Amino acid sequence: MKKGFSLTFCGVRGSYPVPGRETRRYGGNTSSLLLEIGGRHVILDAGTGIIQAGRILDDRPQPGQAIHIFLTHLHIDHIMGLPFFAPMFDPRAEIVIHYPEAEATRSQQALEALFLPPYSPITLQGIKARLSFRPLAAGAGGAVLLDDGIEVASVSHDSHPRLGVLIYRVSFAGRRLVYATDVESPGSFAADIRAFIAGADLLVHDSQYVEQDYAGGLCSRKGFGHSTVSMAVRNAIACGVGRLFLFHFDPRYSDAMLEAMLAQAREGFPETFLAQEGKKIKIRR
Ligand SMILES: [Zn+2]
Ligand SMILES: [Zn+2]
Repeated sequence: MKKGFSLTFCGVRGSYPVPGRETRRYGGNTSSLLLEIGGRHVILDAGTGIIQAGRILDDRPQPGQAIHIFLTHLHIDHIMGLPFFAPMFDPRAEIVIHYPEAEATRSQQALEALFLPPYSPITLQGIKARLSFRPLAAGAGGAVLLDDGIEVASVSHDSHPRLGVLIYRVSFAGRRLVYATDVESPGSFAADIRAFIAGADLLVHDSQYVEQDYAGGLCSRKGFGHSTVSMAVRNAIACGVGRLFLFHFDPRYSDAMLEAMLAQAREGFPETFLAQEGKKIKIRR
């Protein structure tokens, strides 16, 4: 069995896609991460970045192996790439979509609606992959065991309007990656969430805002359910993680602004990096 564990950032933006000159270096697609784990594939979120993940998977089809997609929540920026995910239309593919249990029936209908008129001409008959849906129970300790000892655990975090999100922890061969996006924690994470993340080798954390925009007087973003850079840094320190990747950037921020955010973050936590579209990272201890 292969022991490799890597992450490719396929989409790193929050809220909506922003292609263009100002976002070329770090990318303009919305949230999606492709994990390659011991030769298997797990995808976290299905924003427009999943389209690129589909192209990568198309180049190396793996018959008999399901592609597992884990959704943090169903906001449009985290699911809008699904109708353009190439394996959906490959009869050899098996796709399992895991999503938070809240309003499970309506959630599955909401995901299927992406393929239905008037939003799309595809219809459900147009999906050729074997597709199944698995709601995940909210709360701590829920874990899905995939083949080859890959474990995907989740815990719910309730700051994001209106139904909160799931934070995911993916473990394989003694290494751990945590994906915590669309979270707002003006203090630091509560004790149960800190325990869930503690000691992760790599933490991908919501960093939507700089402090001025978050506080922002009349245009304050408090309560929008997103973090600032300093919240991400505080949580990385409190949880004792190895590396921190800032993620889910505000769509109005240019590449230059992101680099200024990185410089600020490194003052508090030197092992901080910017999530960058197309960048492949090895998970190591
Ligand atoms: Zn989002
Ligand atoms: Zn959201």
